[in-house]
Amino acid sequence: MLTTLYWLTQDLRIDDNPALMRAAQSDALLCVFCVNQRWFNPHRYHISSMGSHRWHFLQQSLDTLSDTLEVQGQHLYIEYGYPEQQLIGLIARHKINRLVCSRQFGSDERKVLKLLAERFPKLDIEEVDATTLYDQTQLPMTPLQLLKGFTPFRKQAEQLPVPPPAQAPMSLPRPVLRAVSIQATPEWIPGSYRRPAASQAQRSIAAIGGGERAGKDHLRRYFESTLPSSYKQVRDQLDGWENSSKLSPWLNFGCLSLRRVAQTLSQYEKTHGSNESTQWLFFELLWREYYQWLALAQGDKLYSIKGISNKPQHGCLHPERYQKWCHGNTPWPLVNACMRQLKETGYLSNRGRQIAASCFVNELGMDWRYGAAWFEHQLIDYDVAVNWGNWQYIAGVGVDPRGGRHFDIEKQTALYDPHGTYIERWAPDAPEPVLDSVDAADWPIA
Ligand SMILES: Cc1cc2nc3c(=O)[nH]c(=O)nc-3n(C[C@H](O)[C@H](O)[C@H](O)COP(=O)(O)OP(=O)(O)OC[C@H]3O[C@@H](n4cnc5c(N)ncnc54)[C@H](O)[C@@H]3O)c2cc1C
Repeated sequence: MLTTLYWLTQDLRIDDNPALMRAAQSDALLCVFCVNQRWFNPHRYHISSMGSHRWHFLQQSLDTLSDTLEVQGQHLYIEYGYPEQQLIGLIARHKINRLVCSRQFGSDERKVLKLLAERFPKLDIEEVDATTLYDQTQLPMTPLQLLKGFTPFRKQAEQLPVPPPAQAPMSLPRPVLRAVSIQATPEWIPGSYRRPAASQAQRSIAAIGGGERAGKDHLRRYFESTLPSSYKQVRDQLDGWENSSKLSPWLNFGCLSLRRVAQTLSQYEKTHGSNESTQWLFFELLWREYYQWLALAQGDKLYSIKGISNKPQHGCLHPERYQKWCHGNTPWPLVNACMRQLKETGYLSNRGRQIAASCFVNELGMDWRYGAAWFEHQLIDYDVAVNWGNWQYIAGVGVDPRGGRHFDIEKQTALYDPHGTYIERWAPDAPEPVLDSVDAADWPIA
């Protein structure tokens, strides 16, 4: 008798979910999602990993998945606490002999799997490639070769056929447990994270909401328009719903599969023709793919101040500068607008992220990891591999052959906000005249 525990993480969907397909090949099935208490505790960068924007999106995604599984006679068990403890308890209590999950790219999750393997030597643990375009066995490069940069990876990956997405399984095995007991939300989830009233903004990620159904609708609408054909011309704009696909939150929770998105793009190209823009969109999906495998190759180095490059960096944190940057009160109106949009909506364009990150590293001269941690807390589309990989890149400790990026804020303002509309919308008040109110040379006062 095969009793499988399917540990859901960033694969919150039924469609094209190879991990679910694999888990479904058993006699009885227990589907579990662990809400990790550590996400809500301040960590070494003095802030928690999970902010309210992402938490709301996650809750909606779990609600949708739970409804879909119920229709198929299954249940989604949501466990609150420390995943290793929750999983150990469930495996022991329900005589689980196989654990299936999607491949984990973050080192914390990998440590949970290692611990389970040590605790239950007879447990069959299967990691399935359910969140990437390619399976690990198809990868065109070894982990060591990945460290050479994105371009060699892209050139080889472009030659590979993207595996076709699979349909949802027709039926699922019987549930290990018949009834679900609804757990009260634990007190360690901040009260201020309660679900907000529906967003007034008609076109925003929060208005569409998390979950597979919402993600599929959004994907369909984007590719029913002709926006993909002009993506390259507008993708660097700072604001505006239509300037990029806004697929990232659904991709990162796995409400949409990357293969489904790639297939939809390829169908779009068959109907409307392929051009520089549609190719660029695929190129961006490849960046996402690349960062996942790079994170796996790096392990804990992803979070090290010297990054992959092993370049010595200064590790300073200036509390006043940090606060001003986080809340959009710096002397640079463009950076303020970016940071306030991020805090208010959980989303920031790619260009906005680059400008804000470059300011943190270059103008403020601080340890890039504090900036990455603030993004992690705020972003609705946070992904461990993509966020920390992009921060390394900007800080000059990643795979950038140019050794880091310094964006000239004045030039960026002239290029991307020539009429001041973006600044007027997000940070209309006068910026702080000075960066530091305390001159380091005068301190401490005797
Ligand atoms: C400092 C910094 C931090 C970032 N943190 C994250 C993060 O935590 N999560 C995240 O999904 N993206 C992150 N990005 C990448 C990028 O900014 C977002 O993916 C993008 O803005 C999401 O909007 P979109 O879906 O409309 O993107 P589109 O422009 O429509 O691109 C389509 C998809 O391609 C992928 N993609 C686009 N740009 C990148 C990129 N630079 N690197 C890797 N993949 C990319 C995303 O999956 C995106 O959804 C970060 C970028 C920077 C500079």
